[in-house]
Amino acid sequence: MKSIIFSLIKANKIPISKIILDELEPFQVQLFLKRLDHIHPAVSGNKYYKLIYNLREAKKLGYKKVLTFGGAFSNHIFATAAAAKDFGLQSIGVIRGEPTLPLNPTLTFAREKGMELTYLNRKQYRIKDSPEILKKLEDQFPSFYLIPEGGTNALAIQGAGEILSPSDFEMDVIALSVGTGGTIAGILSKAEQNQKVLGFPALKGNFVQDEVKHLLTQNSIHPTCEWEIIGDHHFGGYGKFQPELIDFIKYFKNKTGIPLDPIYTGKLMFGILEEIKKGRFQKGNKIMAIHTGGLQGIAGFNQRFGENLESQ
Ligand SMILES: *Cc1c(COP(=O)(O)O)cnc(C)c1O
Repeated sequence: MKSIIFSLIKANKIPISKIILDELEPFQVQLFLKRLDHIHPAVSGNKYYKLIYNLREAKKLGYKKVLTFGGAFSNHIFATAAAAKDFGLQSIGVIRGEPTLPLNPTLTFAREKGMELTYLNRKQYRIKDSPEILKKLEDQFPSFYLIPEGGTNALAIQGAGEILSPSDFEMDVIALSVGTGGTIAGILSKAEQNQKVLGFPALKGNFVQDEVKHLLTQNSIHPTCEWEIIGDHHFGGYGKFQPELIDFIKYFKNKTGIPLDPIYTGKLMFGILEEIKKGRFQKGNKIMAIHTGGLQGIAGFNQRFGENLESQ
């Protein structure tokens, strides 16, 4: 069976929005946003690209189920549940922390897609890749295809390379959010010599740059483009935020109609606007940011923090 979503992506039907904001006018750059959040109502964003080749591989090797790891609000868990179902595979989500009922919106969705949920306490979760824990999981769920936390592996990087379509090579700058670095590694494998790729980490710390370099080496990717990690716009670290970020996300939605998530894409767009205002880009530059999705997390975020961000 051919995956519906895979056909959609292949057809190059990802819309690009032009971002028009008064405060950007003096800088005379053109800002675009590639809307991976529009791939599919449920499976949106970069995670799907990262999963495609893994799910195909799992099927090719004859596996009936995939197992992966994530936090209780994880975009990766959400996407794996939906995509595995789409590919006719069972899925198991190994969730960090203790089970809490009622399930949050992310895990409710995952369950609805047939994902089986199991939990590791934080201590066990930290050593989830150890032979001991993997053996325990293998006993519990015999013969699964393992997809790492966040979905980053060689096949994921290959899939992420397909995010770029031919017209994207006309852009001077490509900007995207960085978590594990799998997506930017894929982009760097494809971006062209005259382009510049900018990564905006959702996490705090210089290790992000090293992590990306490590992934490039490990996967024999030798970028021909220039690239840079801009680590100034993480708002305190992964999952951390400040009122300024929430205000910005609301402002951006109000002005452009485009929802951003507070974990990844909100920080990206905040960061890219700051960099434009700092005068980093030349007049006439075409800058394309990538909306990597993550909007599913907004419902849970609102619940936890009493916010009222819009997810569509
Ligand atoms: C996971 C995720 C990222 C980070 O992708 P990596 O490949 O881990 O760097 C960025 N944006 C969104 C919305 C995500 O869900």
